[in-house]
Amino acid sequence: MNTEISVKTKSRNEFINITQEVQNVVNKSGIKDGVCYIFIPHTTAGITINEAADPDVVADIQQELNKIAPAGSHYRHTEGNADAHIKASIIGSSQAVFIENGRLKLGTWQGIFFCEFDGPRNRKVWVKIM
Ligand code: ZN
Repeated sequence: MNTEISVKTKSRNEFINITQEVQNVVNKSGIKDGVCYIFIPHTTAGITINEAADPDVVADIQQELNKIAPAGSHYRHTEGNADAHIKASIIGSSQAVFIENGRLKLGTWQGIFFCEFDGPRNRKVWVKIM
């Protein structure tokens, strides 16, 4: 079963908590025990699982990624979004989460974040439940 979630980002760099949207896909699938794969089909966006309770955690991740790959024109890729490509590769484009009793089996503080690095854009998230 494959489902596409649409994400509309509003900023150049933005983390969007999509945990509930992914859980909704699990709910619709009716699968109680399995694995949920989440894939981002973009080269300047990614997906990560991290703390969803304190928004400063996301702010810190974004701040440090900006230090590793600051915006600028010193890159070889001249499209103007080289920093976004680098951040997307660091973060990665897929995650897998176990499903138990029909629920995504995440840690207490964990959330699933769509990570925009070259917004605002209309983005897609592909979810496969096995
Ligand atoms: Zn590019």
